[in-house]
Amino acid sequence: MTHPDVLVIGAGMVGAWTALGLAERGLRVLVVDGGVPGGGSTGAAMGHLVVMDDSPAQLALCAHAMMRWRTAAPELPPSAEYDPAGTLWLACSDDELAEAHRKQEVYAVAGVSTEVLDAVALGQAEPLVAPGLAGGLRVPGDAICYPPAIVRTLLERAIALGAIVINQAVRAIRPGGAQLTDGTWLEAGVVVVAAGPQSGMLVPDLPVIPRRGHLVITERAPRRIHHQLVELGYLHSAHTLGGASVAFNVQPRVTGQLLVGSSRELVGFAPGLNRELLAMMLARASAIVPALAGMRVIRSWTGFRPATPDALPLIGAWPALERTWIATGHEGLGITLAPATADLIVAGILGEPPPVPSAAFAPDRPMPTLAAA
Ligand SMILES: Cc1cc2nc3c(=O)[nH]c(=O)nc-3n(C[C@H](O)[C@H](O)[C@H](O)COP(=O)(O)OP(=O)(O)OC[C@H]3O[C@@H](n4cnc5c(N)ncnc54)[C@H](O)[C@@H]3O)c2cc1C
Repeated sequence: MTHPDVLVIGAGMVGAWTALGLAERGLRVLVVDGGVPGGGSTGAAMGHLVVMDDSPAQLALCAHAMMRWRTAAPELPPSAEYDPAGTLWLACSDDELAEAHRKQEVYAVAGVSTEVLDAVALGQAEPLVAPGLAGGLRVPGDAICYPPAIVRTLLERAIALGAIVINQAVRAIRPGGAQLTDGTWLEAGVVVVAAGPQSGMLVPDLPVIPRRGHLVITERAPRRIHHQLVELGYLHSAHTLGGASVAFNVQPRVTGQLLVGSSRELVGFAPGLNRELLAMMLARASAIVPALAGMRVIRSWTGFRPATPDALPLIGAWPALERTWIATGHEGLGITLAPATADLIVAGILGEPPPVPSAAFAPDRPMPTLAAA
Protein backbone atom coordinates (compact mmCIF):
# COMPACT_ATOMS: atom_id res chain seq x y z
CA MET A 1 0.00 0.00 0.00
CA THR A 2 1.58 3.30 -1.03
CA HIS A 3 0.75 6.39 0.99
CA PRO A 4 -1.98 5.04 3.30
CA ASP A 5 -4.21 7.51 5.11
CA VAL A 6 -2.89 6.21 8.44
CA LEU A 7 0.23 4.28 9.42
CA VAL A 8 -0.23 2.53 12.76
CA ILE A 9 3.03 1.52 14.45
CA GLY A 10 2.38 -1.43 16.76
CA ALA A 11 -0.14 -4.25 16.59
CA GLY A 12 -0.85 -4.84 20.25
CA MET A 13 -4.35 -4.48 21.69
CA VAL A 14 -4.23 -0.68 21.27
CA GLY A 15 -2.92 -0.70 17.68
CA ALA A 16 -5.32 -3.46 16.65
CA TRP A 17 -8.44 -1.70 17.97
CA THR A 18 -7.20 1.55 16.43
CA ALA A 19 -6.51 0.00 13.02
CA LEU A 20 -9.96 -1.59 12.97
CA GLY A 21 -11.66 1.63 14.06
CA LEU A 22 -9.94 3.58 11.28
CA ALA A 23 -10.64 0.91 8.64
CA GLU A 24 -14.31 0.84 9.66
CA ARG A 25 -14.46 4.54 8.86
CA GLY A 26 -13.17 3.92 5.33
CA LEU A 27 -9.57 4.99 5.88
CA ARG A 28 -6.69 3.14 4.19
CA VAL A 29 -4.65 1.72 7.04
CA LEU A 30 -1.15 0.21 7.11
CA VAL A 31 -0.05 -1.49 10.35
CA VAL A 32 3.62 -2.24 11.01
CA ASP A 33 4.81 -4.40 13.88
CA GLY A 34 8.39 -5.47 14.46
CA GLY A 35 7.40 -8.48 16.54
CA VAL A 36 4.43 -10.81 16.74
CA PRO A 37 1.10 -8.94 16.74
CA GLY A 38 -0.29 -9.22 20.26
CA GLY A 39 3.05 -10.53 21.51
CA GLY A 40 4.22 -7.43 23.40
CA SER A 41 2.72 -6.11 26.62
CA THR A 42 -0.61 -7.46 25.35
CA GLY A 43 0.68 -11.04 25.29
CA ALA A 44 1.96 -10.80 28.85
CA ALA A 45 -1.25 -9.37 30.31
CA MET A 46 -3.88 -10.92 32.54
CA GLY A 47 -6.80 -9.92 30.36
CA HIS A 48 -8.82 -8.37 33.17
CA LEU A 49 -11.31 -5.86 31.75
CA VAL A 50 -11.84 -3.63 34.73
CA VAL A 51 -13.23 -0.24 35.67
CA MET A 52 -10.75 1.78 37.77
CA ASP A 53 -11.40 5.14 39.41
CA ASP A 54 -8.05 6.66 40.18
CA SER A 55 -9.34 9.90 38.66
CA PRO A 56 -12.62 11.08 37.08
CA ALA A 57 -10.93 11.04 33.65
CA GLN A 58 -9.79 7.44 34.09
CA LEU A 59 -13.23 6.37 35.35
CA ALA A 60 -15.00 7.94 32.36
CA LEU A 61 -12.60 6.31 29.89
CA CYS A 62 -12.97 2.91 31.62
CA ALA A 63 -16.77 3.15 31.65
CA HIS A 64 -16.80 3.95 27.92
CA ALA A 65 -14.33 1.12 27.23
CA MET A 66 -16.41 -1.43 29.14
CA MET A 67 -19.51 -0.38 27.19
CA ARG A 68 -17.52 -1.05 23.99
CA TRP A 69 -16.29 -4.45 25.25
CA ARG A 70 -19.78 -5.57 26.20
CA THR A 71 -21.04 -4.55 22.76
CA ALA A 72 -18.17 -6.37 21.04
CA ALA A 73 -18.35 -9.52 23.18
CA PRO A 74 -21.12 -11.41 21.33
CA GLU A 75 -19.13 -11.15 18.10
CA LEU A 76 -15.86 -12.44 19.58
CA PRO A 77 -14.77 -16.03 18.78
CA PRO A 78 -14.53 -18.68 21.55
CA SER A 79 -10.71 -18.27 21.44
CA ALA A 80 -11.21 -14.79 22.94
CA GLU A 81 -12.29 -16.56 26.16
CA TYR A 82 -14.52 -13.58 27.00
CA ASP A 83 -15.95 -14.29 30.43
CA PRO A 84 -18.29 -11.78 32.12
CA ALA A 85 -17.17 -12.98 35.56
CA GLY A 86 -17.07 -9.52 37.18
CA THR A 87 -14.53 -8.23 39.68
CA LEU A 88 -14.63 -8.71 43.42
CA TRP A 89 -12.51 -6.09 45.20
CA LEU A 90 -11.54 -7.56 48.57
CA ALA A 91 -11.57 -5.42 51.70
CA CYS A 92 -9.04 -6.78 54.19
CA SER A 93 -10.01 -4.33 56.97
CA ASP A 94 -12.87 -2.09 58.04
CA ASP A 95 -11.00 0.86 56.56
CA GLU A 96 -10.91 -0.90 53.21
CA LEU A 97 -14.62 -1.72 53.50
CA ALA A 98 -15.23 2.00 53.98
CA GLU A 99 -13.17 2.48 50.82
CA ALA A 100 -15.46 -0.02 49.06
CA HIS A 101 -18.48 2.12 50.01
CA ARG A 102 -16.70 5.26 48.74
CA LYS A 103 -15.86 3.49 45.51
CA GLN A 104 -19.48 2.42 45.11
CA GLU A 105 -20.65 6.03 45.24
CA VAL A 106 -18.02 7.16 42.73
CA TYR A 107 -18.85 4.34 40.32
CA ALA A 108 -22.57 5.08 40.57
CA VAL A 109 -21.97 8.61 39.27
CA ALA A 110 -20.35 7.06 36.16
CA GLY A 111 -23.25 4.65 35.72
CA VAL A 112 -21.23 1.61 36.86
CA SER A 113 -23.33 -0.67 39.05
CA THR A 114 -21.73 -2.38 42.05
CA GLU A 115 -22.70 -4.29 45.16
CA VAL A 116 -21.03 -4.07 48.60
CA LEU A 117 -20.67 -7.48 50.27
CA ASP A 118 -20.23 -7.92 54.02
CA ALA A 119 -18.01 -10.66 55.40
CA VAL A 120 -20.80 -13.27 55.31
CA ALA A 121 -21.82 -12.46 51.73
CA LEU A 122 -18.15 -12.52 50.68
CA GLY A 123 -17.76 -16.01 52.16
CA GLN A 124 -20.81 -17.19 50.24
CA ALA A 125 -19.69 -15.61 46.97
CA GLU A 126 -16.11 -16.89 47.18
CA PRO A 127 -15.74 -19.74 49.71
CA LEU A 128 -12.00 -20.11 49.00
CA VAL A 129 -11.19 -16.64 50.30
CA ALA A 130 -9.66 -16.79 53.79
CA PRO A 131 -12.05 -16.06 56.65
CA GLY A 132 -11.56 -12.80 58.51
CA LEU A 133 -11.79 -10.35 55.62
CA ALA A 134 -14.16 -7.43 56.10
CA GLY A 135 -16.09 -7.81 52.83
CA GLY A 136 -15.82 -6.64 49.27
CA LEU A 137 -17.17 -4.71 46.33
CA ARG A 138 -18.59 -6.67 43.40
CA VAL A 139 -18.48 -5.05 39.96
CA PRO A 140 -20.59 -7.39 37.80
CA GLY A 141 -19.95 -5.52 34.53
CA ASP A 142 -16.20 -6.29 34.51
CA ALA A 143 -14.90 -9.24 32.51
CA ILE A 144 -11.95 -11.47 31.62
CA CYS A 145 -10.52 -12.20 28.17
CA TYR A 146 -7.57 -13.74 26.31
CA PRO A 147 -5.87 -10.73 24.68
CA PRO A 148 -3.66 -12.33 21.96
CA ALA A 149 -6.65 -14.08 20.37
CA ILE A 150 -8.61 -10.83 20.36
CA VAL A 151 -5.76 -8.97 18.64
CA ARG A 152 -5.77 -11.62 15.92
CA THR A 153 -9.55 -11.26 15.44
CA LEU A 154 -9.41 -7.45 15.29
CA LEU A 155 -6.58 -7.49 12.74
CA GLU A 156 -8.41 -10.06 10.59
CA ARG A 157 -11.43 -7.76 10.56
CA ALA A 158 -9.29 -4.73 9.70
CA ILE A 159 -7.64 -6.70 6.87
CA ALA A 160 -11.07 -7.71 5.55
CA LEU A 161 -11.80 -3.95 5.32
CA GLY A 162 -8.63 -3.32 3.30
CA ALA A 163 -5.99 -2.76 6.00
CA ILE A 164 -2.53 -4.25 5.50
CA VAL A 165 -0.36 -5.59 8.33
CA ILE A 166 3.37 -6.00 7.77
CA ASN A 167 6.04 -7.50 9.99
CA GLN A 168 8.71 -4.79 10.04
CA ALA A 169 10.30 -2.75 12.81
CA VAL A 170 10.31 1.03 12.65
CA ARG A 171 13.52 2.77 13.65
CA ALA A 172 12.56 6.43 13.25
CA ILE A 173 9.55 8.62 12.57
CA ARG A 174 9.05 12.06 11.04
CA PRO A 175 5.87 14.04 10.26
CA GLY A 176 3.71 11.69 8.16
CA GLY A 177 6.40 9.06 7.80
CA ALA A 178 8.31 6.20 9.37
CA GLN A 179 11.61 4.58 8.50
CA LEU A 180 11.88 0.80 8.64
CA THR A 181 15.03 -0.89 9.88
CA ASP A 182 16.00 -1.71 6.27
CA GLY A 183 16.14 2.05 5.60
CA THR A 184 12.86 2.31 3.62
CA TRP A 185 10.73 5.36 4.40
CA LEU A 186 6.94 4.81 4.51
CA GLU A 187 4.81 7.92 3.88
CA ALA A 188 1.26 8.32 5.21
CA GLY A 189 -1.35 10.97 5.87
CA VAL A 190 -0.83 10.55 9.60
CA VAL A 191 1.20 8.27 11.85
CA VAL A 192 -0.21 6.69 15.02
CA VAL A 193 2.42 5.50 17.50
CA ALA A 194 0.94 2.52 19.40
CA ALA A 195 4.22 0.79 20.18
CA GLY A 196 3.39 0.18 23.85
CA PRO A 197 6.31 0.50 26.28
CA GLN A 198 8.71 0.93 23.32
CA SER A 199 6.91 4.08 22.12
CA GLY A 200 9.43 6.31 23.89
CA MET A 201 12.19 4.90 21.67
CA LEU A 202 10.44 6.35 18.62
CA VAL A 203 9.19 9.65 20.02
CA PRO A 204 11.80 11.72 21.85
CA ASP A 205 10.60 13.11 25.21
CA LEU A 206 7.44 10.97 25.27
CA PRO A 207 6.85 10.36 29.01
CA VAL A 208 6.40 6.58 28.90
CA ILE A 209 8.53 4.06 30.75
CA PRO A 210 8.41 0.26 31.10
CA ARG A 211 7.08 -1.09 34.39
CA ARG A 212 7.80 -4.79 34.79
CA GLY A 213 5.18 -7.18 36.13
CA HIS A 214 5.21 -10.89 37.01
CA LEU A 215 2.39 -13.37 36.55
CA VAL A 216 2.10 -17.09 37.22
CA ILE A 217 -0.43 -19.63 35.98
CA THR A 218 -1.46 -22.79 37.81
CA GLU A 219 -2.35 -26.24 36.60
CA ARG A 220 -5.96 -26.93 35.61
CA ALA A 221 -8.50 -27.73 38.31
CA PRO A 222 -12.29 -27.58 38.66
CA ARG A 223 -13.35 -23.93 38.86
CA ARG A 224 -13.78 -22.88 42.46
CA ILE A 225 -13.14 -19.14 42.12
CA HIS A 226 -15.89 -17.26 40.36
CA HIS A 227 -14.77 -13.62 40.03
CA GLN A 228 -11.53 -11.84 39.27
CA LEU A 229 -10.35 -11.23 42.84
CA VAL A 230 -8.32 -8.10 43.57
CA GLU A 231 -7.39 -6.58 46.90
CA LEU A 232 -8.42 -2.96 47.36
CA GLY A 233 -4.81 -2.24 48.31
CA TYR A 234 -3.97 -2.98 44.63
CA LEU A 235 -4.95 0.57 43.80
CA HIS A 236 -2.07 1.96 45.84
CA SER A 237 0.40 -0.41 44.16
CA ALA A 238 -0.89 0.42 40.69
CA HIS A 239 -0.94 4.16 41.03
CA THR A 240 2.22 5.10 42.84
CA LEU A 241 5.28 4.61 40.66
CA GLY A 242 7.87 4.29 43.44
CA GLY A 243 9.72 1.07 44.28
CA ALA A 244 8.86 -2.60 43.82
CA SER A 245 5.46 -3.72 45.10
CA VAL A 246 3.08 -6.67 44.99
CA ALA A 247 -0.69 -6.85 45.33
CA PHE A 248 -3.14 -9.73 45.38
CA ASN A 249 -4.82 -10.37 42.05
CA VAL A 250 -6.24 -13.80 41.08
CA GLN A 251 -8.11 -14.62 37.91
CA PRO A 252 -10.07 -17.80 37.06
CA ARG A 253 -9.54 -18.89 33.43
CA VAL A 254 -12.11 -20.83 31.43
CA THR A 255 -9.56 -23.67 31.33
CA GLY A 256 -9.83 -24.05 35.12
CA GLN A 257 -6.38 -22.54 35.60
CA LEU A 258 -5.75 -19.59 37.88
CA LEU A 259 -3.66 -16.61 36.85
CA VAL A 260 -1.96 -15.08 39.86
CA GLY A 261 -0.48 -11.59 40.03
CA SER A 262 0.80 -9.10 40.31
CA SER A 263 4.01 -7.16 40.82
CA ARG A 264 5.33 -3.78 39.75
CA GLU A 265 8.94 -2.59 39.52
CA LEU A 266 10.97 -0.08 37.54
CA VAL A 267 13.91 -2.03 36.10
CA GLY A 268 13.93 -0.77 32.51
CA PHE A 269 13.47 -3.63 30.04
CA ALA A 270 15.44 -6.08 32.20
CA PRO A 271 14.46 -9.65 31.26
CA GLY A 272 14.19 -12.53 33.70
CA LEU A 273 12.39 -13.10 36.98
CA ASN A 274 12.83 -11.37 40.32
CA ARG A 275 12.45 -14.48 42.45
CA GLU A 276 12.21 -12.57 45.71
CA LEU A 277 9.35 -10.44 44.39
CA LEU A 278 7.68 -13.50 42.88
CA ALA A 279 7.85 -15.25 46.27
CA MET A 280 6.29 -12.19 47.96
CA MET A 281 3.54 -12.15 45.33
CA LEU A 282 2.72 -15.82 45.84
CA ALA A 283 2.85 -15.48 49.62
CA ARG A 284 0.36 -12.62 49.42
CA ALA A 285 -1.91 -14.66 47.16
CA SER A 286 -1.80 -17.73 49.43
CA ALA A 287 -2.56 -15.60 52.48
CA ILE A 288 -5.83 -14.48 50.90
CA VAL A 289 -6.70 -17.74 49.07
CA PRO A 290 -5.01 -20.47 51.18
CA ALA A 291 -5.96 -23.23 48.70
CA LEU A 292 -3.49 -21.68 46.25
CA ALA A 293 -0.60 -22.95 48.34
CA GLY A 294 -1.54 -26.50 47.34
CA MET A 295 -1.71 -25.81 43.61
CA ARG A 296 1.11 -26.36 41.16
CA VAL A 297 2.43 -23.41 39.19
CA ILE A 298 3.18 -24.46 35.61
CA ARG A 299 4.61 -21.21 34.22
CA SER A 300 5.69 -17.76 35.27
CA TRP A 301 6.63 -14.79 33.11
CA THR A 302 7.18 -11.07 33.07
CA GLY A 303 5.92 -8.28 30.84
CA PHE A 304 6.34 -4.52 30.64
CA ARG A 305 3.49 -2.10 31.21
CA PRO A 306 3.74 1.25 29.40
CA ALA A 307 3.64 3.58 32.43
CA THR A 308 3.40 7.37 32.71
CA PRO A 309 4.34 9.56 35.69
CA ASP A 310 0.72 10.68 36.30
CA ALA A 311 -0.88 7.23 35.78
CA LEU A 312 -3.01 8.36 32.83
CA PRO A 313 -2.54 7.22 29.23
CA LEU A 314 -1.18 9.37 26.39
CA ILE A 315 -3.88 9.63 23.73
CA GLY A 316 -3.93 12.39 21.14
CA ALA A 317 -1.85 14.50 18.79
CA TRP A 318 1.85 15.08 19.52
CA PRO A 319 2.40 18.73 18.65
CA ALA A 320 6.19 18.42 18.39
CA LEU A 321 5.77 16.24 15.29
CA GLU A 322 3.06 17.26 12.84
CA ARG A 323 0.58 14.57 11.74
CA THR A 324 1.71 12.30 14.56
CA TRP A 325 -0.71 10.76 17.06
CA ILE A 326 0.11 8.90 20.25
CA ALA A 327 -1.83 5.96 21.71
CA THR A 328 0.08 4.50 24.63
CA GLY A 329 0.91 4.90 28.33
CA HIS A 330 -1.97 2.75 29.62
CA GLU A 331 0.18 0.98 32.25
CA GLY A 332 -1.89 -1.91 33.67
CA LEU A 333 -5.11 -0.91 31.92
CA GLY A 334 -4.24 -1.08 28.23
CA ILE A 335 -6.28 -4.18 27.47
CA THR A 336 -9.32 -2.61 29.09
CA LEU A 337 -8.85 0.85 27.57
CA ALA A 338 -7.92 -0.15 24.01
CA PRO A 339 -11.37 0.26 22.40
CA ALA A 340 -11.90 3.64 24.08
CA THR A 341 -8.42 4.73 23.03
CA ALA A 342 -9.22 3.78 19.46
CA ASP A 343 -12.43 5.82 19.59
CA LEU A 344 -10.50 8.90 20.77
CA ILE A 345 -7.84 8.49 18.08
CA VAL A 346 -10.41 7.93 15.30
CA ALA A 347 -12.43 10.97 16.43
CA GLY A 348 -9.27 13.09 16.67
CA ILE A 349 -7.99 12.16 13.21
CA LEU A 350 -11.43 12.70 11.65
CA GLY A 351 -11.92 15.99 13.51
CA GLU A 352 -15.01 14.76 15.35
CA PRO A 353 -15.98 15.39 19.00
CA PRO A 354 -14.44 12.76 21.31
CA PRO A 355 -16.84 10.23 22.89
CA VAL A 356 -15.47 11.18 26.34
CA PRO A 357 -13.56 14.32 27.39
CA SER A 358 -10.00 13.84 26.17
CA ALA A 359 -7.99 16.80 27.54
CA ALA A 360 -6.69 14.78 30.52
CA PHE A 361 -5.01 12.36 28.10
CA ALA A 362 -3.25 14.95 25.90
CA PRO A 363 0.26 13.50 25.44
CA ASP A 364 1.87 16.95 25.92
CA ARG A 365 0.03 17.78 29.17
CA PRO A 366 2.09 18.99 32.13
CA MET A 367 3.51 15.90 33.79
CA PRO A 368 5.27 15.31 37.11
CA THR A 369 8.87 14.21 36.74
CA LEU A 370 9.52 10.53 37.36
CA ALA A 371 11.34 11.36 40.57
CA ALA A 372 8.26 13.18 41.89
CA ALA A 373 5.72 10.58 40.72
C1 LIG B 1 1.98 -8.54 33.80
C2 LIG B 1 0.97 -7.63 33.15
C3 LIG B 1 -0.38 -7.80 33.42
C4 LIG B 1 -1.31 -6.95 32.83
N1 LIG B 1 -2.64 -7.18 33.06
C5 LIG B 1 -3.56 -6.36 32.48
C6 LIG B 1 -4.94 -6.58 32.69
O1 LIG B 1 -5.34 -7.55 33.35
N2 LIG B 1 -5.83 -5.70 32.15
C7 LIG B 1 -5.44 -4.64 31.39
O2 LIG B 1 -6.29 -3.87 30.96
N3 LIG B 1 -4.11 -4.43 31.14
C8 LIG B 1 -3.18 -5.26 31.67
N4 LIG B 1 -1.86 -5.05 31.46
C9 LIG B 1 -1.44 -3.88 30.68
C10 LIG B 1 -1.57 -4.15 29.20
O3 LIG B 1 -0.93 -5.37 28.89
C11 LIG B 1 -0.92 -3.01 28.40
O4 LIG B 1 -1.32 -1.76 28.87
C12 LIG B 1 -1.36 -3.15 26.94
O5 LIG B 1 -1.12 -4.47 26.48
C13 LIG B 1 -0.65 -2.18 26.06
O6 LIG B 1 -1.00 -2.51 24.73
P1 LIG B 1 -0.27 -1.83 23.53
O7 LIG B 1 -0.93 -2.29 22.29
O8 LIG B 1 -0.17 -0.37 23.78
O9 LIG B 1 1.24 -2.36 23.64
P2 LIG B 1 1.87 -3.75 23.17
O10 LIG B 1 0.97 -4.89 23.42
O11 LIG B 1 3.24 -3.80 23.75
O12 LIG B 1 1.97 -3.59 21.60
C14 LIG B 1 2.94 -2.75 21.01
C15 LIG B 1 3.39 -3.43 19.72
O13 LIG B 1 4.31 -2.53 19.09
C16 LIG B 1 5.33 -3.29 18.52
N5 LIG B 1 6.50 -2.41 18.42
C17 LIG B 1 7.24 -1.87 19.41
N6 LIG B 1 8.21 -1.10 18.92
C18 LIG B 1 8.10 -1.16 17.57
C19 LIG B 1 8.83 -0.60 16.49
N7 LIG B 1 9.89 0.21 16.69
N8 LIG B 1 8.46 -0.88 15.22
C20 LIG B 1 7.37 -1.69 14.97
N9 LIG B 1 6.66 -2.26 15.97
C21 LIG B 1 7.01 -2.00 17.25
C22 LIG B 1 5.55 -4.47 19.45
O14 LIG B 1 6.10 -5.57 18.74
C23 LIG B 1 4.14 -4.73 19.96
O15 LIG B 1 3.50 -5.78 19.26
C24 LIG B 1 -0.89 -5.90 31.98
C25 LIG B 1 0.47 -5.77 31.69
C26 LIG B 1 1.39 -6.63 32.26
C27 LIG B 1 2.84 -6.48 31.90
